[in-house]
Amino acid sequence: MRTPHSARDGALARVRVPGGVVTAAQLTELSHVATEFGDGHLELTSRANIQIRGIADVHAVSGRLSAAGLVPPTHEQVRNIAASPQSGRIGGNADVREHVSRLDRELQMRPGLERLSGRFLFGLDDGRGDVLALQPDSAAVWHSADRAELILGGIATGRFAHTDDVVSAILDAAEAFLAAADGRWRMRDLDHATLEHVIGQLPGTSGSGESVVYHRVPRIGWLEQSDGTVMLGGVVAHGRITAQLAEFLGAVGTDIVITPDREILITDLSEGVADTVLRVLAPMGLIFDANSPWTHISCCVGAPGCAKATADVRTLAAQRVHSLAGDAEPVAAREHWVGCDRACGSPAGTHTLIIATPDELVTVSK
Ligand code: SF4
Repeated sequence: MRTPHSARDGALARVRVPGGVVTAAQLTELSHVATEFGDGHLELTSRANIQIRGIADVHAVSGRLSAAGLVPPTHEQVRNIAASPQSGRIGGNADVREHVSRLDRELQMRPGLERLSGRFLFGLDDGRGDVLALQPDSAAVWHSADRAELILGGIATGRFAHTDDVVSAILDAAEAFLAAADGRWRMRDLDHATLEHVIGQLPGTSGSGESVVYHRVPRIGWLEQSDGTVMLGGVVAHGRITAQLAEFLGAVGTDIVITPDREILITDLSEGVADTVLRVLAPMGLIFDANSPWTHISCCVGAPGCAKATADVRTLAAQRVHSLAGDAEPVAAREHWVGCDRACGSPAGTHTLIIATPDELVTVSK
């Protein structure tokens, strides 16, 4: 694990979770690590990663996470891979799940790519546009089961690859970016001519396809999978899972998918098990109600955990949620509450940013 970021409330370990997929065993281990060494919570991020705060023994945490297969020996900082969270189970033009593990594996086999910025985002969009909404740097969107268009800096390139060649094309594009980047971190930081130069080096064939438009629909509640099993989608207050809830989630025994909207998807359940999971986990704080304001309201850590904050952002966000409780109409607009204009954890799409200072709340449309 890279040297963890230090914060006022202790060290912070960020565990990158390619495609947002965490196995039951990994989640169980994370819950134990959070209990033994952290503040007893797992924090979900806007890149579908998991953070543990308040760590005193960084060395011990690093060893435990490595042993659980959550931190590879190299490339840890650049394993930023977003994928359509429901792919292969509900909707989409293709099943991108196997491409996630292949991309992660082959990324680690290209030593030069370790030099990418930790902000560089790879993306695999199964055609519904949910990953494109994150404006990934090097990505592909599947227009059909066997054909995907390459996307650079969130821009459709008009270059298409066969599904078997997509992973190598995405990695080739990242290498072409690095060769031209001249210190810039993101594909969208390139000037037009340089970006055109990178696009010109892409493999694949030119073509056209319908543009992909994404409409955010919260993935909450009881969701039918195409194979007849059930996916349960939930959120937690402040995007923080208690270690106890994480342990119970791990005990379900199926893969959990974290989404960039900080949703928690429990996959591949029989109806009977799904029913039990609902009854056991809802009282523990997992919210399965699509009308809950927590499906639309998120926040940064704020004071006292962050030295830059002057306001207790979590409490303010909770008060906002409380004020909305019982409203007949669910909150439609996405809100993100922060303690300064760094706006950590902001969602990628359109949203309202509320900056809390000691004197006032400043509202900004993004
Ligand atoms: S947005 Fe500001 S106050 Fe909030 S966590 Fe980031 S740096 Fe701290």
